[in-house]
Amino acid sequence: MKTALVTGANKGIGFEIVKQLAEKGIYVFIGSRNLEKGQQAAEKLKAEGLTNVEVIELNVTDDNSVKLARKKIGEKFEILDILINNAGISGGQPQTAVGATLNQFRQTYETNVFGVVSVTQAFIDLMKHADEPRIVMVSSSQGSITLHSDPSYDYKYYDYKGAVYLSSKSALNMYTVNLAYELKDSLFKINAVSPGFTKTDFTNNMGTGTVKDAGSRIVKYALIGQDGPTGKFFCEETNPETGEIPW
Ligand code: NDP
Repeated sequence: MKTALVTGANKGIGFEIVKQLAEKGIYVFIGSRNLEKGQQAAEKLKAEGLTNVEVIELNVTDDNSVKLARKKIGEKFEILDILINNAGISGGQPQTAVGATLNQFRQTYETNVFGVVSVTQAFIDLMKHADEPRIVMVSSSQGSITLHSDPSYDYKYYDYKGAVYLSSKSALNMYTVNLAYELKDSLFKINAVSPGFTKTDFTNNMGTGTVKDAGSRIVKYALIGQDGPTGKFFCEETNPETGEIPW
């Protein structure tokens, strides 16, 4: 049986990713920084017959929490097949390059960048003996420097000023490229995927897409075959044809 860990999975897109992976028979750890919220999420899925899920307390910004989660999962399984770095925060307001506070930048980078580095580094050794190790970074198309610096690019949904949030996703993207390159001669497939503008708490339910679609866009890259891409950036909403978008 394959195993997966999804961070920030007690709600939103992360919860849907867990559901879709569990429906495929994968044993999924619901990473949740709040145990109670995680347990509620697990109960919801178990009530739907998905018993192959388990909560793991995991605050991605707390090194001890990451270490403890790694220890517990390692005690139960020798191999982790899939890691979905989904936990993320928006960074609050304002998001202007001049007006946003240093504290906003620090807190956002702690979760969206350093949290991903911490979790990835902690779990990578547990993944290296998997037949098809897969890491998906849940990014944002708006973290694409190429698209965002193109004045002719039409932001379809809203004119988003995102100095804090978007720069954190750009940093995450560069980490993804480096990680994929470092592991290019291994079985790992590591990609950054944007779920699209989705109705969740994160967007104050203003997103136009469903968590179901967002979840399936991420799950697709968690399950790609050995002939699949690595070190790439995908957003089906931006490029419905191949899904690939520029960094
Ligand atoms: P939600 O706000 O609905 O969910 C975010 C999840 O991350 C929650 O479970 C939250 O936990 C968790 N989280 C936040 N900080 C931490 C932490 N330090 N440790 C562990 N978990 C944490 O957001 P979405 O589901 O919409 O977003 C999921 C991902 O998708 C994010 O990375 C976001 O940037 C990305 N994304 C979302 C888009 C959208 O339109 N919704 C568009 C593009 C990208 P808690 O409940 O405890 O707060």
